Amino acid sequence: MGSQELAFVKQAFDTNWIAPVGPHVDAFEQEFCQVTGASYAVAVSSGTAALHLALQLVGVGPGDEVFCSTLTFAATANPIIYLGAKPVFIDSDRISWNMNPELLQEALQKRASNGKLPKAVILVHLYGQSADIEPILQVCDQYNIPLIEDAAEALGATYKGLSPGTFGRLGIYSFNGNKIITTSGGGMLVSDDEKLVVKAKFLATQARDPAPHYQHSEIGYNYRLSNVLAGIGRGQLQVLNQRVAARRRNFEIYQSALGDLPGIEFMPETNFGYSTRWLTALTVATEAFGADREYIRLQLAKQQIEARPVWKPLHLQPVFSECECIGGEVGEDLFLRGLCLPSGSNLTDEDLARVISAIKAIYLTT
Ligand SMILES: *Cc1c(COP(=O)(O)O)cnc(C)c1O
Repeated sequence: MGSQELAFVKQAFDTNWIAPVGPHVDAFEQEFCQVTGASYAVAVSSGTAALHLALQLVGVGPGDEVFCSTLTFAATANPIIYLGAKPVFIDSDRISWNMNPELLQEALQKRASNGKLPKAVILVHLYGQSADIEPILQVCDQYNIPLIEDAAEALGATYKGLSPGTFGRLGIYSFNGNKIITTSGGGMLVSDDEKLVVKAKFLATQARDPAPHYQHSEIGYNYRLSNVLAGIGRGQLQVLNQRVAARRRNFEIYQSALGDLPGIEFMPETNFGYSTRWLTALTVATEAFGADREYIRLQLAKQQIEARPVWKPLHLQPVFSECECIGGEVGEDLFLRGLCLPSGSNLTDEDLARVISAIKAIYLTT
């Protein structure tokens, strides 16, 4: 936490706004728009809830198909299933580790000629790095398919100077405990289309019709963010830049100490974006390094250093095993060889030095 969160929370208590509505919720949405350049925002209870609303708002329903990045966390695709639709996964490129624009274009072209276009495309911005949005948006526009951006991991990043998450029809962010800023749990849905955002607020508050009695013509959800947590979010927005700087600093220290080890390659930064380096990720070439990713991870674990594999692509997940995937080799390779190092904003120089010397020692002893 930064220095102001508790004061905002106290204000919520002092004014008795302990509800999923209130002045902090409104202010958090406004301040979030200022920080990201989004036009309109709705604060919700999680990034997953924001994705669920986004998919429903663009009309995804039973039997529809939704194209979706395969190299991501399951929460990206779960809401597709909530709505009775089917994910079709798209592989990554090696430049950004995010959705390959050429694969998407080929796939949409093929689908257009079969008359079987998807209802939406979900584009993920992984580990603090923006995907190559422009060509993806262009091909989505060409086929009139709404683009939903999952920027849960990319708050604070830029794409050609602007915030990923603000380019598509709708974008989502997460404030879960592990993200770059957090409200313990929470999310944000953004759009340039005011009507969509008004509709999102309606659906997120149990779809109450404007009537004094409780009247409902649609099925809604209880998805709004608590005013107490929005207070935390307001304080966290004030330290976002510091958090980004801390994450990038972790990355730079790791890279300058380990980047020359044979077989170690850090996640590249694209020339079209600025990454927050939310997580420091690298790949291991087994032969050159002398050990594989998993050996390194287990050796680190023995020393109480928690490193993790890169996300397991969704097309390899048992729960999505029936789903189609276009390409897949790049995501599979990044998963098999990819390692995320400890990346918290509060790591000390001693912490970083301990991880670095542990990895060097593994290299020297294999
Ligand atoms: C964290 C995350 C989500 C889900 O956000 P929650 O707030 O945890 O529901 C969705 N997509 C990605 C890529 C994430 O990392």
